[in-house]
Amino acid sequence: MAELLGEVDALGSVCDAARVAVVGEAIDRGEPGSGVRAMTAVQWVREHAPSTRAGGARAVVEVAAAFAKPVNEPVRVAVESGRLPVRSAAVVVTEADRLRPLLAEGAEPHVLAGLVDMAVEHGPRGCRMVRPALLARYGRDGQLQVEQDVARRFVALSQPADDGSGISEYRLVLDPEGRAVLEAALGPLSAPRPVEGMRDLRSCDQRRGEALVELVRRAVVSGQGVGPVAKTQLVVSVDWAALGRDVRGVGGLRAGSTVGGVDAGTLLAPETVRRLACDASVLPVVLGSAGEVLDQGRAVRLFTTAQTRRLWLRDGGCTFPGCSVPAQWADAHHLVHWADFGVTDVGNAALLCGRHHTVVHSRRLAGRVVTDPDPGTGQGGGERVQWDLTLGSYDQLLARRAAQEPA
Ligand SMILES: [Zn+2]
Ligand SMILES: [Zn+2]
Repeated sequence: MAELLGEVDALGSVCDAARVAVVGEAIDRGEPGSGVRAMTAVQWVREHAPSTRAGGARAVVEVAAAFAKPVNEPVRVAVESGRLPVRSAAVVVTEADRLRPLLAEGAEPHVLAGLVDMAVEHGPRGCRMVRPALLARYGRDGQLQVEQDVARRFVALSQPADDGSGISEYRLVLDPEGRAVLEAALGPLSAPRPVEGMRDLRSCDQRRGEALVELVRRAVVSGQGVGPVAKTQLVVSVDWAALGRDVRGVGGLRAGSTVGGVDAGTLLAPETVRRLACDASVLPVVLGSAGEVLDQGRAVRLFTTAQTRRLWLRDGGCTFPGCSVPAQWADAHHLVHWADFGVTDVGNAALLCGRHHTVVHSRRLAGRVVTDPDPGTGQGGGERVQWDLTLGSYDQLLARRAAQEPA
């Protein structure tokens, strides 16, 4: 029976492809719109292909129309050879249309081939999942960054909806970075935990929900002391050749991804990777051209407990002017970014809350540690971080450093 089902299914695919081909030919000849019973193409399909009256007529017409365009030739060939089901072809065509304006010159055939392969292998879902990778590889410079920066604006957590039975429902929308951070933290916490050899019978969703609450509870109670190690297990892998960057953030790093946790391999845009790698609690793994590990986080990149204590004491909280986020919620930013070979040293560090850390990186702002004269003695007193809020001041700092360095 299994073999027979396979054969019937293959036959169905061939029939689907033939239906599209016939509809395409009919549209080409102008048949639906002519004669006394002129109809739209969709109506015509429903009239003459009764099985589509339950749904699917529009999809057939759309795919047929798409196949009339020369750009979609590879998709048509895949369908007619029986490799690609019509339903998946519709998704490939839609995705290709969405990607087309974002692609670098000459990249389209590769992208179309990639979409077709993914759709053949993994269906429509695979086709949608490959989008960030295609944009990183074949998109115009900076396109993935633009897309992910836009995605950040949609980040949202709804108010709880309570149906009166004591159950609250939330809606959470995250960008790729948020998703990577959350999944890296939830992964180990939401794994099934058997009790005395008894299987963990909680559903996956239940385990994840409970893990999220546990995560928040831990974050709240850990506010008092300094954690001895990194605060999340987020590991960012960075491709060495791409780590070098030019000043405007175009080119340079094309593909950074996070690995670890459940969500292995979320592709992150370059500036996001640089900012994440800058925080001294995230571990960047630098990869060589063949994907070999060159550097596990530049030897001692994570701050020691003693360094963190000094930093907390010195800055007290986020150092951005006017911000009052306490130290335990702040990232340790490298004043000379990690990606620009900044050292992990309290003299090169400043606490920043998540929001201001993003601002400092996206506006490329420079900060420095200054020593205020002690009002009593006039000698050196307390140290503090001073920010230059001029757009691009960090790039000026880099230029000055480059000029000072012996060639
Ligand atoms: Zn930073
Ligand atoms: Zn802040």
